[in-house]
Amino acid sequence: MSDTKTLNVNGRSYQSMQRPLVVVCVDGCEQEYINQAIQAGVTPFLKKMVAQGTVLTGDCVVPSFTNPNNLSIVTGAPPSVHGICGNYFLDREANQEVMMNDAKYLRAGTIFEAFSNAGAKVAVITAKDKLRGLLGHKMRGGICFSAEKADQATLEQNGVANLLELVGMPLPSVYSAELSEFVFAAGVKLLETQRPDIMYLSTTDYIQHKFAPGTPGANAFYAMMDHYLTQLDALGAVIGLTADHGMNAKTDSAGTPNVIYLQDVLDAKAGNGKTRVILPITDPYVVHHGALGSYATVYLNEGADLASVSRQISAIPGVEVVLTRAEAAARFELPEDRIGDLVIVSERLTVIGTSASRHDLSELKLPLRSHGGISEQKVPLMFNRKLSAIPADHRLRNFDVFFLAMNHAQ
Ligand SMILES: [Zn+2]
Repeated sequence: MSDTKTLNVNGRSYQSMQRPLVVVCVDGCEQEYINQAIQAGVTPFLKKMVAQGTVLTGDCVVPSFTNPNNLSIVTGAPPSVHGICGNYFLDREANQEVMMNDAKYLRAGTIFEAFSNAGAKVAVITAKDKLRGLLGHKMRGGICFSAEKADQATLEQNGVANLLELVGMPLPSVYSAELSEFVFAAGVKLLETQRPDIMYLSTTDYIQHKFAPGTPGANAFYAMMDHYLTQLDALGAVIGLTADHGMNAKTDSAGTPNVIYLQDVLDAKAGNGKTRVILPITDPYVVHHGALGSYATVYLNEGADLASVSRQISAIPGVEVVLTRAEAAARFELPEDRIGDLVIVSERLTVIGTSASRHDLSELKLPLRSHGGISEQKVPLMFNRKLSAIPADHRLRNFDVFFLAMNHAQ
């Protein structure tokens, strides 16, 4: 954008920048991944960010899942404002689990919508296609595509074509580190050739679900990322890096998953059919976590007693907190109409399932690592610039990343 503009998006103001802004959402990036990669000496650029830029910690949104947090980051607002609080909610009237991947469930405009309508050139690149429609909703022009379907991108639909040729990589598998690498490689190419004003790169947590911080598999991923960040920086971009959520082992000492099969427990204690457990982490790509995360919501049917069901759940070992709908909506800033009567968060080493028979753990070749809880709420908030005048009393969130970069980066 040639002249500086200040735009209001969901009650917060954002200043356009003279330099290109690249915001990176590293899926499942527990802070320890970055720390360990720096200690191992494989990420010189991240090390430089520590020395010359700004390193902060922010809280992500609970449920610490991918979609609620990506939407928070691009709207600068919590799910109570944008409406996306998981992959699924229960449509009570239809008595059906409804997927929230469709942009019709989005209740707020994005920073991309506002800036593209004001004339800025915006580019959005996601690893998985499930996020593309939500992130690019109502964007005017610009570029928006997923690495997953990069081969199908067209000028009309996505603002860019011949991506495999441009990026110089074959189409990656949806379960691979290359899916995220494609996002970074495409970002560098687009910055070189088209110089968008605002670019958003959102990766996938395939690696983080498999490998703990500091392991060779994890360090190789961060070294790859570092290589592309170096290039984005050299091209003059202001870089803001955050994560949608952290990631933790969800096992015992022997690597066996700690799973609370909540529907089984409630069927036994409250009675068959009295409750319905919904796992908003469930999505079409569940091979790497078996649809198990540290957050669940429970809907009560006719004849179930809220207080006694709540007590029964609280008594289960591994449960961290049980909240009523109103309590959860207030504490986690969630839309009341899209969560159940109760919200349950499990402890750091424990995940919640529905019924044992509904989870196929045979595809889990490595000890389960997952997210969803309060234990995965702390995420990195890093910049390749010094930030000035951050309000001291402000609770830093991952969804402040655009706000901080656009208003406070020097
Ligand atoms: Zn994620």
